[in-house]
Amino acid sequence: MLQLFIPLGFLGIVYRQIKYALADMDLVFKLLEREPEIQDAPGAPALILRQGRLRFDGVSFHYQPERPILRDVDFRIEPGEKVAVVGHSGAGKSTLARLLFRSYEVNAGRILIDDQDIRDVTQQSLRGAIGIVPQDTVLFNDSIYYNLAYGRPDASREEVERAAELAHIRAFVESLPDGWDTVVGERGLKLSGGEKQRVAIARAILKRPRIMLFDEATSSLDSKTEQAIQQTLAEVAEDHTTLVIAHRLSTVVDAQRILVMESGRIIEQGEHRRLLADGGVYAAMWELQQREREQVPSAS
Ligand code: ATP
Repeated sequence: MLQLFIPLGFLGIVYRQIKYALADMDLVFKLLEREPEIQDAPGAPALILRQGRLRFDGVSFHYQPERPILRDVDFRIEPGEKVAVVGHSGAGKSTLARLLFRSYEVNAGRILIDDQDIRDVTQQSLRGAIGIVPQDTVLFNDSIYYNLAYGRPDASREEVERAAELAHIRAFVESLPDGWDTVVGERGLKLSGGEKQRVAIARAILKRPRIMLFDEATSSLDSKTEQAIQQTLAEVAEDHTTLVIAHRLSTVVDAQRILVMESGRIIEQGEHRRLLADGGVYAAMWELQQREREQVPSAS
């Protein structure tokens, strides 16, 4: 009997590890909407992470050769700086995130983290350096505790609770009748868009990455939830290098720099007030969104 228990216990550990691994891949592919293809260069070293300085250096990219998506994109994000990318749908914003995560290779130029070309280092070390808050967070049919901790299964209970607190989801979890054991996901408690994003923020906090990539939800949250998420993100992002892919301008006002993309190029950049004063594409987009806001009564 004992003989049977040992392998079963071992299988349990293996199962849990596979589940973690699959969950991770599932999340990544959902975010990046693609199959794995890119291989590490033979003998590639791990990324040596220092402050987390990020640079896109003359990056061009296409999914299909006949249709360029990014054209000579050039920008830097200094350690601790928050940069937001805005632009009309299809401008190439999420593509920047996919390239940074090295789900696709650039066709020209390079992407550097702390002066290392991301093609020259292992994907595992690259991805370990980046915390992602995706548009749509994948939840597993498991306890909310498992869902929060899965990015770092070795995290202690205190660390998970602290991350949940920073992400402003702890009080919500503890108010549920089954607390941390509440099963969520398809067959469990359904979380709202805002709650799911907070789970993703808590996961990112647990990972303690130098670089945060926030792909804002396209579906709009009510303005109270949106504000709360923004507040949370601002706190979390404080000493991280942060790239926000923004679909709403209201969420980028506090960014140190806003990159405005059109047809795969950065056509304007600066902080909110400066871009408004310039009276260009950003100012026109801002005015349009303000008018739309006035017409649609707030959901909160
Ligand atoms: P949105 O604000 O709507 O999310 P975006 O600015 O993030 O848009 P991207 O998702 O970067 O835009 O897409 C840029 C262009 O690349 C779009 O025209 C899109 O159709 C195209 N595209 C995106 N993914 C692929 C793909 N896997 N294969 C081919 N074309 C793609």
